[in-house]
Amino acid sequence: MQTSSRLDRLPPYLFAELERKIRERKAAGVDVISLGIGDPDTPTPRVVVDALARGAADPGTHQYPSNRGRPELREAYARFYERRFGVTLDSETQIIPALGAKECVFNLNLAFLDPDSVALAADPGYPVYTGGPLLAGAEAVLMPLVPELGFGPDLGAVGGDVARRARLMYLNYPTNPTGAIVPDGLFERAVEFAREHDVLVVHDASYTETTFDGYVAPSFLETPGAKEVGVEVFSLPKGWNMTGWRTAAIVGNSD
Ligand SMILES: *Cc1c(COP(=O)(O)O)cnc(C)c1O
Repeated sequence: MQTSSRLDRLPPYLFAELERKIRERKAAGVDVISLGIGDPDTPTPRVVVDALARGAADPGTHQYPSNRGRPELREAYARFYERRFGVTLDSETQIIPALGAKECVFNLNLAFLDPDSVALAADPGYPVYTGGPLLAGAEAVLMPLVPELGFGPDLGAVGGDVARRARLMYLNYPTNPTGAIVPDGLFERAVEFAREHDVLVVHDASYTETTFDGYVAPSFLETPGAKEVGVEVFSLPKGWNMTGWRTAAIVGNSD
């Protein structure tokens, strides 16, 4: 059986490797503390489960939604963004529900990348920022996260040919896996970079609701100019213990 050359481009999936190693050690009798895949270890809040149960029993939810998703859901995201971030979004044109942040990021690669183009991805970072561009037939170029820059990338170091071919830049704050919060000025610099090099900034906001010691994480879309050059992928699973639910939305630039 022949698989596509596209498939051959993929390195082994990191989390599958980790799962295999953990299984091996557990079988050998080791009490393993997994620092692998990010997965809340407490259940989904009761109020969410109850709402799903009611929704599942309602025949009004049993058909395909419009291709943009149900208006009630988009409007709920708009209200949340206003209340939580002070960001005003048009629920008709600037919000589309997605089947999880991961699938959403993957599809962005197919929508924006051609074989000679590049996605800029933070290193270390979530695997789909690099696997997605590969499967799209394009290239992921890693931007090292620099401890001296608060675990931000040095955007000034991205130049020449790479900047010319770049179409996407992935950022993720608070960051998986470092836990770093966004360094002062980074979002502003990303907007400048995007304008200069005609790049779409994709901010993965999976962890804005998972913060500690009173820190409140911003949305990238709070940054002046962000909506002109960027989108944010907002995901429910990490903030509300809903990893098995895979539900998210992409918001921001309507184009
Ligand atoms: C867990 C995680 C995701 C996956 O989110 P889903 O909405 O469950 O697809 C995306 N991005 C980062 C950085 C994550 O840690």
